[in-house]
Amino acid sequence: MEFWYTEQHTPDVHFSIRVERQLYSGHSEFQRIDIFDSREFGRFLTLDGYMMLTEKDEFIYHEMMTHVPMCVHPDAQNILVIGGGDGGTVRELLRYPSVRHIDLVEIDEKVVEVCRKYLPSVASGLGDARVTIHYEDGLRFVRKPVSAYDLIIVDSTDPFGPGEGLFTKEFYGNCFKALKDDGIMVNQHESPFYEQDAYAMQRMHQRIVQSFSISRVYQAHIPTYPSGHWLFGFASKKYHPVEDAAWERWKALDIPTRYYNTQLHAAAFALPNYVEEILEDVEP
Ligand code: SAM
Repeated sequence: MEFWYTEQHTPDVHFSIRVERQLYSGHSEFQRIDIFDSREFGRFLTLDGYMMLTEKDEFIYHEMMTHVPMCVHPDAQNILVIGGGDGGTVRELLRYPSVRHIDLVEIDEKVVEVCRKYLPSVASGLGDARVTIHYEDGLRFVRKPVSAYDLIIVDSTDPFGPGEGLFTKEFYGNCFKALKDDGIMVNQHESPFYEQDAYAMQRMHQRIVQSFSISRVYQAHIPTYPSGHWLFGFASKKYHPVEDAAWERWKALDIPTRYYNTQLHAAAFALPNYVEEILEDVEP
């Protein structure tokens, strides 16, 4: 008998992966957590039935979330990651000698426990001495710090369920306050392609633009996310994501990457016309 994982990307579009084995299934206080194994994508994590990451394409998402702001910020030492309990973003950040401390704020302890056990190549950095894990709602956590972080990476689930608060004006305003004067915030920005996702990403952009003077969107190709066309938000108090990128300094770090490179960084901010139009509609 064949076993398929199927996610509904729209009422008329389904995305399926043939599953070899289900390795874990459980419920936490916040969500259902599943780990599957597949021939095409290796192991993958889903939360409430939605794809979070696969072993085969997670490098694209995590490299683009991390190396784009790290190439721009001249000396990011103190970093806040919200969500991201799988550890992929932390793994990439730990490649930088400048990083002194990472606060990882993950609402669901069970996600961390399950990823440590079943996705060790992703979760590898979670035990590093530079990382402190806070099991707390990110929305609440950012109310306290003031001018504390060089970089905030919002590695959240989608804008419903426990992740909903991480897409609000209050949250972005508090991220702005929690950042130093030259701080950068990067967030996963959903997809522009299907109507409902495009609406979510437009609302998100509208709210970020209200808090940050510099707010740009960049893209990557992520095969297992709806439509495969994924966006990220780059918001900053000071730095432009391309004009202020320090290409040579980044190359000198000699960090191994499989997706990110400095030419791709610049190109990722060149968006298709239809995406620019969705964004411009809500820009002041
Ligand atoms: N790459 C993923 C994606 O976009 O599909 C995101 C992966 S990561 C697993 C997202 C994490 O955010 C989950 O582990 C979830 O528990 C966590 N999360 C959701 N809402 C949160 C909140 N309010 N505060 C902190 N963490 C939250």
